[in-house]
Amino acid sequence: SQYVVGLTGGIGSGKTAVSDSFTALGIDVVDADVCARQVVEPGNDALAQIASRFGEEILLADGHLNRAALRQRVFQNTADKEWLNALLHPLIRAQMITQIAAATSPYCILVAPLLLENNMQSMVNRVLVVDVAPEQQLARVVARDNSDEATIKAIMRAQLDREERLAKADDVIVNDASLNALKIKVQQLHNQYLRLAANLSK
Ligand code: ATP
Repeated sequence: SQYVVGLTGGIGSGKTAVSDSFTALGIDVVDADVCARQVVEPGNDALAQIASRFGEEILLADGHLNRAALRQRVFQNTADKEWLNALLHPLIRAQMITQIAAATSPYCILVAPLLLENNMQSMVNRVLVVDVAPEQQLARVVARDNSDEATIKAIMRAQLDREERLAKADDVIVNDASLNALKIKVQQLHNQYLRLAANLSK
């Protein structure tokens, strides 16, 4: 089936925890971040173009892209950032479409942290948002990444705010309890998505 559920949510909301639960139920998961890394793997034309614009110093010794250096280069340089996005966005989109087409489960999940920020709704049949209160989100990310609150808060501010994200959701999974409670919510959504995907293919 080509029924696609887009999974999104803010930093540390629980996207990985949710997608792991779908994987455990046998559902194929396509990850936008993985696709974004694949398109700049050594040997790909995109990497050659990046090296040609920014110089070989944008590469690591082993030929892989130095993602931190690239982030630094395009940070606050609008022209470079726009050039990079124009190069990579169509490639990433094509990579996601290829992987979605290869999915064999009754429906598949597309995990995309920036699904709504990048207006990717047309790629999915349904939008599932993982929702968590900002205080809990902050506490979980600080515990996970061992990073300071100010850094996480800055990332949270740069993302879509909670109300805007919820307004664009078809389904919301509230991740305010245990990981086990989360699994049970995923199971319920799974049953719903199986029905929706079956209706689509009729
Ligand atoms: P990112 O946007 O940074 O990729 P994410 O949305 O994938 O994050 P997770 O990594 O799944 O979020 O969750 C963030 C952290 O909170 C992880 O350490 C995870 O184990 C923990 N966590 C998620 N949900 C729960 C929960 N219900 N109870 C306790 N810990 C949780």
